[in-house]
Amino acid sequence: MIIVVGSINMDVCLNVDKIPVPGETVMAEKVSKNCGGKGANQAVAAARLGAEVIMLGCVGEDENGDSLLHSLEMSGVKTEYVMKVPVASSSAYICISKKGDNSIVVDSSANRFVTVDYIEKNKFLFADAKYCILQMEIPVETIKCVIKLCRTYNVKIIFNPSPLSEFDVRLIQGVDYLIPNEIELSEIMGKKSDSLCDYDCIKFLKENEIGTLVVTLGSLGCKIFDNVNETVFIKTKEREAIDTTGAGDTFLGAFVTAISERKPIEYAANFANIASGIEVMRPGAQRSMPTREEVEYEYN
Ligand code: ADP
Repeated sequence: MIIVVGSINMDVCLNVDKIPVPGETVMAEKVSKNCGGKGANQAVAAARLGAEVIMLGCVGEDENGDSLLHSLEMSGVKTEYVMKVPVASSSAYICISKKGDNSIVVDSSANRFVTVDYIEKNKFLFADAKYCILQMEIPVETIKCVIKLCRTYNVKIIFNPSPLSEFDVRLIQGVDYLIPNEIELSEIMGKKSDSLCDYDCIKFLKENEIGTLVVTLGSLGCKIFDNVNETVFIKTKEREAIDTTGAGDTFLGAFVTAISERKPIEYAANFANIASGIEVMRPGAQRSMPTREEVEYEYN
């Protein structure tokens, strides 16, 4: 069983010709609402692919909250421990350009209620879990508390360091899997993304006692670093992206699903590349995530 502790947001998508630079105003061509949030997206991605997933997070007592819970449930995510709180559900305002790039601002109202207290009340769930997925759209104190619980109960931690606003390298020390995109990894390592080399990545992995580092590389695929094997580049088939929102989340959910089934790591990375490659060709985040049949059809 996989526990996802994280954000549940309503994505307000603004389709624009180009993403505004500081000081610029642009007009939206279309505005739409989609269920999202990094935590919820990763939970949906994994559940759609057949994993048993429990979501820990908060939604507001509002219409968005009901829609967000419904979307999780429709994909098979267990939501009985999601807490309803007396504030607005969190929202993310996402600008999507014609090229498919995006920029995101999150208002984390309900996500702030994912507190240490809330986790303590639900800590019995960790006794039966094998994997726990974490990202950074909830309070840092809560993340630290979840990491401690995972160590107590011997639950493997998959850490997606995003967004990086409150990042501290101590958070990721000793995690089993660290899965950033290239930009996040270069920021964490204090390097320019075009100067990242395998040697630096392996040194970083060893210094921070990370089990496995998987870096996603957009349309190129991903790279796997660990202490045992050679660095492996898992190339993917480039797709024509129409909306990359949720690509990394789909990758993560699919990767964890495969490793939770004890598949070899290269299989998991290929499986995740295919799942997220399908996702970028469709609009939205959760609603564009593929089913098991769709991914397996392409894998074979
Ligand atoms: P994020 O969404 O977090 O920025 P990436 O851009 O690295 O992360 O994308 C995550 C994964 O999505 C990639 O590793 C790749 O498997 C897949 N992906 C993204 N864009 C494309 C694309 N244009 N064609 C095929 N796969 C893609």
